[in-house]
Amino acid sequence: MPELALPREELIRRLPKAELHLHLEGSIQPELALQLAGRHGVSLPGSEEGVEGLRRHYRFTSFDDFLRLYLALSSCLTDAEDFTTITVDLARQLAEQNVRYAEVTVTPMTHVARGVPGDALLAGLAEGRMRAREEHGVELAWVFDILRNQADRAEPTLELALRGREQGVVGLGLTGPESLEWPLQPFAPLFARARENGLHSLPHAGEHAGPESIWAALRWLGAERLGHGVRCLEDSELVQHLVEKRIALEVCPSSNVSLGVCAELGQHPLPRLLAAGLAVTLASDDPPLFSTSLTDEYLRCAARFSWSAEQVLSLAAAGFEHSLLPLKTKQAWLAAQREIAAGEVTR
Ligand SMILES: [Zn+2]
Repeated sequence: MPELALPREELIRRLPKAELHLHLEGSIQPELALQLAGRHGVSLPGSEEGVEGLRRHYRFTSFDDFLRLYLALSSCLTDAEDFTTITVDLARQLAEQNVRYAEVTVTPMTHVARGVPGDALLAGLAEGRMRAREEHGVELAWVFDILRNQADRAEPTLELALRGREQGVVGLGLTGPESLEWPLQPFAPLFARARENGLHSLPHAGEHAGPESIWAALRWLGAERLGHGVRCLEDSELVQHLVEKRIALEVCPSSNVSLGVCAELGQHPLPRLLAAGLAVTLASDDPPLFSTSLTDEYLRCAARFSWSAEQVLSLAAAGFEHSLLPLKTKQAWLAAQREIAAGEVTR
């Protein structure tokens, strides 16, 4: 392979990128959150001191604090227009980084349980997705998420996801407390039905719990990719299985550091995941909540782990390769990436 001439940082910025692990509700910037809160008369933590007061709450050290803010942000979303607004703003953030495609997780029952009609949610997302494409040149697909500790809301989530297939819903996800207290077996029939009806199985697993949680996601949910999955390294048989089946991990290093999955970036398992031959994609999870973006994840990891430009290119390619885009579209993006890198090759 010829040497890439672009400096690593410039290559990161210029490559068209795909992001496969990103939560819509966790992408609301504090400025926009205040606007939405004002519109609906909702109060947010620290908001009496304006945007800087709220911004201070965008930092936390525990999962409980994270969840509190996440739910507070969700409570600002009431009507279709709100979902359109946050979708278009997310597309703006993605376009600025040259992220051209994203599979975005939405947790419908967080909103429906507060009285937001499912139809309003679907309509708002559909409008936002269209405007993301038209105004920002960003293509979005949706993953609707089930909370594993709210089994009674799983069925309506699937129903809504199935109704949303024409409007870009491509997968059924699963999140919530990753603990044996909330086993996955009861969700097996639901995920089977989702897969039979064209939805992909994209659960979180292997973030706060170890290999047994990943095995359960594979066995009961038919997981096709893993949200995080970083703790697979604790089981060599599991690693071998994931490598053989090409089940990709959506790895979100800054999220893992913020939520205490690992102590600091230098100790993150990412280099070991890559060395093990696992399929890895880089992602940002809830960018403003973890003071990051997809570009920042590339920049931070490239600097910390001394990646070459070829390694950057290979990870950026993995974002499209493991996406749910049609093969032809994937190939076009991969070719565009190679062209950008190769067009700048030293002569
Ligand atoms: Zn996540």
